[in-house]
Amino acid sequence: MTIHFMCCCGAKTYYLPDKMAGSKVRCPTCRAIMVTPQPTNSGQVVIAAPAEEEHGDQQWSEGEY
Ligand SMILES: [Zn+2]
Repeated sequence: MTIHFMCCCGAKTYYLPDKMAGSKVRCPTCRAIMVTPQPTNSGQVVIAAPAEEEHGDQQWSEGEY
């Protein structure tokens, strides 16, 4: 089962495996960090909620400073 969701910027939709639910991903279009939503049974596109951008030990932020 996959999660089909859209970034809050509306520019891009993603398909991720449902085990990714709750993890943070970065939209390559708007650079926003969002939390992968839980999978739905209806198959409709979910708008992902933007996540608080945390500075520190997040894995994705390494080497960006
Ligand atoms: Zn975006």
